Amino acid sequence: MKKKDVNSSRVPVYRDAGFELFNADITSQAFENEKNPRHDPDFYIYSRYRNPTVVSAEQEIMKLEECNWAFLTQSGMSAIETSLSVFHKGKSTPPMLFFTEIYGGTISFIDTVLASRRGVDVRYFTPENGRYDYEALEKMIAEIKPGVVYIETISNPMLIVSDIRKVIKIASKYGSKVIVDNTFATPLLYRPLEDGADIVIHSATKYLSGHGNITAGVICGNDENIRKEIIEYRKLVGHMISPDDAYRLQTQMESFSLRFMKQCSNAANLAAFLSNSVMISEVWYPGLPGHTTHDLAADLFSKKGYGAMITFDIKGIDRNEKRSRRDSFIKMVSEKIKLIPSLGDSRTILMPVEAVWGVKYPEPGMIRLSVGFEDYGQIESTISCALKAL
Ligand code: PLP
Repeated sequence: MKKKDVNSSRVPVYRDAGFELFNADITSQAFENEKNPRHDPDFYIYSRYRNPTVVSAEQEIMKLEECNWAFLTQSGMSAIETSLSVFHKGKSTPPMLFFTEIYGGTISFIDTVLASRRGVDVRYFTPENGRYDYEALEKMIAEIKPGVVYIETISNPMLIVSDIRKVIKIASKYGSKVIVDNTFATPLLYRPLEDGADIVIHSATKYLSGHGNITAGVICGNDENIRKEIIEYRKLVGHMISPDDAYRLQTQMESFSLRFMKQCSNAANLAAFLSNSVMISEVWYPGLPGHTTHDLAADLFSKKGYGAMITFDIKGIDRNEKRSRRDSFIKMVSEKIKLIPSLGDSRTILMPVEAVWGVKYPEPGMIRLSVGFEDYGQIESTISCALKAL
């Protein structure tokens, strides 16, 4: 990085679209360097290629994931698109295998872009009774030999935890690359790259930025060949985060571990509270002993926490009563807990499950909570008052 003009303690927001290259010699050296740029800040050319403010934020993420490289993109979806596209090599592309319990936007991308437009042979692997069967997975991988296996650490909205270590072990036996969307677990609970995953992606819109005010994504890894492909792809399709967003993300990441651990502890307390409510028939939270993947979660996350997402089902004698109680609940808590279609916000926010995942999860009483880092007592009293009033 160039010597700073003033004694600022943070990296400046470099808003230059193009950087000054002074003469033809430097220009050719800069373009030569850009064919395989390192994180060492040198020879910046054009902000769609590389930008010093963005590189600075990427370096912070590399520390969190303890990895060799990290590339920021303008959304979680562009991180997903980039990480899958580098394995798409035209007609010779082997099948790609996706676990079904992944973000709905990712499924839509797989079906409408990867399969329909690009002709990728897409296969899905489905859990049974809230758990994946890893023997069946091995059989499937042995048979179809996928180029890529794609999975999320904690699924949405049922919060199924996957045995990522087992998936990596099986996939690597058959030469398949593993991409893990680690948005819900974050690097604080688990770092899949340490166990040999090839790529980890995050929607940095969620916990990494943590205040519901930035849209961003990040792709992390260690493999040198994948690094080159990703940086080239990001440059060519223009999936670059803006320097302003990178700056804000980096600043907000300074409080990431404090925030996320508080969110996990708030969620654990709230899940226990909800489990004891007479108005609730079921609570899904991987930290609860009754959750289908509690044992896996305890092992994978070394009991550091279980994430900050909770799904619960409000009781009712029939679907109509459940739906009307759900709607009253949402209305009663709305001053403090808003219906916002996102997660990982500083504030506790909620989503009615049926309205989003109606085909898959049609239970009208179900609500998904993304627990924030407010004072715990405030969250519990807001929810407790609404449940009593039902
Ligand atoms: N991955 C997961 C697990 C998500 O929940 C989301 C969005 O909700 C995404 C990826 C996409 O991220 P973004 O909205 O930042 O594009």
